[in-house]
Amino acid sequence: MSEQQTIRPIGIRHGDTVKVMSGRSKGKTGKVLSVDPAKGTVTVERANIIKRHTRANPSKNVRGGILDKEGPIHVSNVMLVCPGCGKHTRVGHTALPDGTKVRVCRRCNQAFEH
Ligand SMILES: [Zn+2]
Repeated sequence: MSEQQTIRPIGIRHGDTVKVMSGRSKGKTGKVLSVDPAKGTVTVERANIIKRHTRANPSKNVRGGILDKEGPIHVSNVMLVCPGCGKHTRVGHTALPDGTKVRVCRRCNQAFEH
């Protein structure tokens, strides 16, 4: 087996709304908080919450204890939610007349970019 990794472009960006399609947070919809293109993961608002144990650090004003934090979810487990039709969708790519490339909803052709 080859260890070669195919890096596919992540069609999801910070601030997008996505729906979690599988795993512990299946069915949850939330905003993308961060994207990790190297790992192919995203963190989604209030989805895949993990408990993080933190040590108190008074100099950084950090209280010790257990912190709820969004954990990474692989992009293959989430789908974009279209602002136009409100459904989770595959993303297409198209170019505007001025040459700008935009992502579009495969269902209703609404562009994700504003
Ligand atoms: Zn749509």
